[in-house]
Amino acid sequence: MNSYEGKSFNVITYGCQMNVHESEKIRGILASLGMLEIDDAEKADVVVFNTCCIREGAEDRAYNNIMALRNSKKLNPNKVLVMCGCMPQQKNGKYNLKEKLPFVDIIIGTYNINQLAQYLLMFAVKHKQIIEIVNRATGNMDSGYCIRDDKINAYVNIIYGCNKFCTYCIVPYVRGREISRPMADIYNEVKNLVQNEGYKYITLLGQNVNSYGKDLKEQTTFAELLTELCQIEGDFKIKFMTSHPMDFGDDLIKVMKKENKVAKALHLPVQSGSSRILAKMNRHYDIKHYMSIIKKVKHAIPNISLSTDIIVGFPGETEKDFNKTLKLLKKVKYDQVFAFMYSKRTGTPAAEFEEQIDEKEKNLRVNKLLRLQKIIQKEQTKKFFKKTFDCLIQQINGVAVGITDGGKEIYIPNYKFVNQNYFAKVKVEEIRNHKLSGVINER
Ligand code: SF4
Repeated sequence: MNSYEGKSFNVITYGCQMNVHESEKIRGILASLGMLEIDDAEKADVVVFNTCCIREGAEDRAYNNIMALRNSKKLNPNKVLVMCGCMPQQKNGKYNLKEKLPFVDIIIGTYNINQLAQYLLMFAVKHKQIIEIVNRATGNMDSGYCIRDDKINAYVNIIYGCNKFCTYCIVPYVRGREISRPMADIYNEVKNLVQNEGYKYITLLGQNVNSYGKDLKEQTTFAELLTELCQIEGDFKIKFMTSHPMDFGDDLIKVMKKENKVAKALHLPVQSGSSRILAKMNRHYDIKHYMSIIKKVKHAIPNISLSTDIIVGFPGETEKDFNKTLKLLKKVKYDQVFAFMYSKRTGTPAAEFEEQIDEKEKNLRVNKLLRLQKIIQKEQTKKFFKKTFDCLIQQINGVAVGITDGGKEIYIPNYKFVNQNYFAKVKVEEIRNHKLSGVINER
């Protein structure tokens, strides 16, 4: 029996899917100590803030929310507060955490979250604040514990860190260089999730999944990993994020085309339609290269669902550069675009660049871009007509719906449910008000 057994915990997550999955592991670690999860941070005995610093807003929110718990800590001095993740890992961050958060009991970074149980046990003995930020991983980054809420889609880490150093991004500074997980570990985790836990989608995670394997002793590639995972028996599909155009090879396109178990959806961040801005971003590719990938992918998999990330208003972005981004959108016709206004990140080269674009202009540009994308997306709906898609059949509000690999919903009227959460082919027969409906065909 340890001093945490029977106590309650609450985990608060900020940021990307990597952090969401990291929090699933944190919940697993806390449950392994015999603790019970509750959703009230005020009442919980242990509260973990898993932080993000990719944008200033996420940092502010985490900081303000942890400050707001100061009172409940005063009322319950035995309450344990933990801050972990990207914020503490950052050198010269916006907040001097050591100075500002003396009431937070444990502050750790991104590399030692897997050792959270040890830190908690240590704190229970010494009752002294622990601040431990390490700059490299020691041993396996995985604790082996994980509690997933989602019962359909499971995140699985395949590579940690990033070697790319885009000039706007803090990730390489807080997550370090690339560390790939051994293929056998990933294989066993996916096999267990599919065959014992019934997961339908496995989403492989990494800051740059295409770089997978380069750092392993027995070098391998992401395409080889996908091929291997597709050998696992079961009715499931594999998604992955995020891809980097520089490392996106033809071998991957071949595997995506050949393997039914690889979802026909691709998120390929472009960030800007101007090669001049891409060079300033240190993205290692130009628009010609990016478009050559899109062309090959569309040729190999005509019904693929494409999505991207775009940063609007990067320092030095002229009207002409921005128009090139709009042009790119019209050309590629993405199914989904995630557009962000550039925001300065202290510690990154772009924060020091001259020609910062003012907020009003960034706002105008991002709205213009989103308006255009809305029109494109509506137009895109037409491409579904009379086409057949491999869908996950689910029951939503009592109605059968087929979900495509790209997340599009196809309603299946008059379908009698015998089963759900299985894959079937669905043919789109009608489009009304941009809503799709269709019939199930055999797979
Ligand atoms: S590829 Fe660029 S944007 Fe993505 S995590 Fe690495 S440095 Fe950041």
